[in-house]
Amino acid sequence: MHLSDILKIRSQPGAGISIGLTRKCPLSCAHCSTNSSLQSEEYPEDRFVRFVGTFSPQHHPEIMALSGGEALLRPKLIMKLAKMARRAGTSSSVLSGLFFARHPTIPANIERAIRSVDHFSVSTDAYHEQEIHRDLVLKTLDTVLSYGTDVSVHLVGANEDDPFIADATADIQQRFGDDVPILVNLLEPFGRARKWFSKAVPEEQEQIKASPCHMAAWPVMSYDGTIVACGNDDVIEKLPDHLVLGHAMTDSWQTISERSASSCTLRAIRLYGPEFTVNRFSSQKPDCTGYCDTCINMQPTRDFGKNLNKHMTSPSIRLLEDTVAVLRLEAGAEAFARSEGTAKFSDLVSLGRDG
Ligand code: SF4
Repeated sequence: MHLSDILKIRSQPGAGISIGLTRKCPLSCAHCSTNSSLQSEEYPEDRFVRFVGTFSPQHHPEIMALSGGEALLRPKLIMKLAKMARRAGTSSSVLSGLFFARHPTIPANIERAIRSVDHFSVSTDAYHEQEIHRDLVLKTLDTVLSYGTDVSVHLVGANEDDPFIADATADIQQRFGDDVPILVNLLEPFGRARKWFSKAVPEEQEQIKASPCHMAAWPVMSYDGTIVACGNDDVIEKLPDHLVLGHAMTDSWQTISERSASSCTLRAIRLYGPEFTVNRFSSQKPDCTGYCDTCINMQPTRDFGKNLNKHMTSPSIRLLEDTVAVLRLEAGAEAFARSEGTAKFSDLVSLGRDG
């Protein structure tokens, strides 16, 4: 499965699910969005196995994206979940920071876990390279490519002109030609990065325009089994009611995907973005600290709910949502990379794509 197959449906509601298998990680990257360490939380396998066991040929996500913390600390669980998911018709991917790359060879249990999924992604950046040198990342990618597994690299830069991005993409292309697709994202002030990195708050707009949130499309299961509407780490920490979808110990995929698809609040966030939604349907003012803060701090008052439900249940809005979904699908993976990552490097997500 190529990276572009994943990104192409990344903004389609319920087309996939992201699952954080653990919050633990042996690395200590300075910007880690989950603030992970080896002492971080890890919950028993049962909640992951139970939830993926609810995937069925009739009701399943197309893709299950496994991450952490460091997902490959649980290689047996990855193999088990990938096998269960495949039986229902779901493809799987795993994202890793390659803590094992300092070993002369990939440990056997980790090799088996990598071979069990349909796509293997490596996450690296200037902070990660202080823990795992770029040469080790490239060597590990070489080995995984030799298994015949599809791979990609996820890079993070402080901004589009960060010299790290140009340097790392050049090195990857020099080593692998056009065989390895690359997704470039920008650093966000979450987790450990919050202490030393901030983003300029956009100037207040005279007229608040619609700015859809693509990240509210795939439910995200946290390391403890809580399932929320998106992967924003503040959402996982603060659990605002309107962004919580359920829990792996009690709910099925069918229930979670139906809740995500039917919530008027989530549908409005996907279609218009949180600031427009609050401005149009609530007496509350959009949060001046930004887009996601407005979403997290949204006050679902009775009036807000009434106005929103009336608007979102009209047949013309359903038609508009369906049209937007088709347009996004046709726009493809590069359009998704442009909207969520950096326009300058968006074509790199298609490297190695046949035809
Ligand atoms: S706007 Fe809301 S749903 Fe979208 S990523 Fe931010 S917090 Fe999540």
